[in-house]
Amino acid sequence: MRLGTWILDKAAGSDSRMRRLIAYWGATLLLYAFALAFLWIDVEFGEASRLIATIFTVLVLMGEAAFFWVIRKHERLGITTAQLSIYQSWFAIFCVALAYTGQGPLRGATLLGLFVVLIFSAFSLKAREARALSIFVVVFLGGAMLSMPFTVPQFFDLKTELLHSMLAGSALLVVGVINGRLSDLRSSLKAQREELRVAAETNRMLATTDELTSLPNRRYMAELLRCQEQRRTPSVTSFCLALLDLDGFKKINDLYGHDTGDEVLKQFAQLGRRQLRKNDVLARWGGEEFLLYLPGTILQDAHGVLERMRQQVQHAHLLNQAGKISYTFSAGLVELTLDEPVEHGIRRADALLYRAKQRGRNLIEMNAIDDSITV
Ligand code: GH3
Ligand code: MG
Ligand code: MG
Repeated sequence: MRLGTWILDKAAGSDSRMRRLIAYWGATLLLYAFALAFLWIDVEFGEASRLIATIFTVLVLMGEAAFFWVIRKHERLGITTAQLSIYQSWFAIFCVALAYTGQGPLRGATLLGLFVVLIFSAFSLKAREARALSIFVVVFLGGAMLSMPFTVPQFFDLKTELLHSMLAGSALLVVGVINGRLSDLRSSLKAQREELRVAAETNRMLATTDELTSLPNRRYMAELLRCQEQRRTPSVTSFCLALLDLDGFKKINDLYGHDTGDEVLKQFAQLGRRQLRKNDVLARWGGEEFLLYLPGTILQDAHGVLERMRQQVQHAHLLNQAGKISYTFSAGLVELTLDEPVEHGIRRADALLYRAKQRGRNLIEMNAIDDSITV
């Protein structure tokens, strides 16, 4: 087992797909080795052609070496894994046909190789490709049998060839049926997998998105910050957090109704998102409160972002049957120290938000890392 792993490490590296391809290649090499041994024993018994056995040996060795190289380089050569398996199957069928012509009474056993190739193909090829492969088998094996009276007349026996044709024909028929079934199964499995993927994606979206504003929800943000906290190293640049809260929102609800309040929340989310860069995250933290995460941002820059947002919100308004509804927000902004727990940072932001409310609202309050503020 360890030897196998060692060989795979050397031959295929660490890529799991490449390891699988090389492992399959190794398995076919083993089968060819058995076929070679069988053929040469037959030669020793005087029941197989030495010339064809020699051609077969050279062909297999060169072919397998070439396949090893092609498998290793298939991505660079633009060859897909499905194409690889088609080429290997063609080559194997050609080898079986060649070995067949070179043998005496025992050549029927060679047809076993055909079964192996066809069964392998049933798992890896599409129905159309497997059909093409079956035609390939008919052409090559039929061609090989027909050529025998001229190339190896000493081995040719019409009755045996007819029997073998029937055997190969029935194998093709069975594999054809199995392949059709497998192909159906594969497509339904693929469809099921896609359905599952979509369901999982929808679930993930529902679990992490706020239904009203379509912003990431509190759960998502909390998880993001937890990961951020675990990953923090001296090389990670500073980041800022801000708590945003709509001003006098209760009054909007009271004056215009809860539905209008909802519309304001939606519009605010849209306006807020517009100011953000790719990696910034604005989440609905609860009610009319939002948490903004600005990675790799120093306090002054974060303040610039929030100030632009504040001005945009101040000048925007929601238009509905009640008329133009203007609204503002206040925010508490902090830059986190390297060793400061996120939770502590949020408490500091909350204290600053409180200060902004006290100082008249529509304000951004911030403080530097070591500024004292009671949290
Ligand atoms: P302040 O400026 O001090 O923040 O005043 P405020 O009125 O915004 O704050 P307060 O905490 O008194 O009121 C918040 C209101 O937000 C109360 C609550 O009903 C309302 N609210 C919370 N979630 C929602 C929501 O999803 N939709 C609507 N329409 N209102 C909400
Ligand atoms: Mg409020
Ligand atoms: Mg509030």
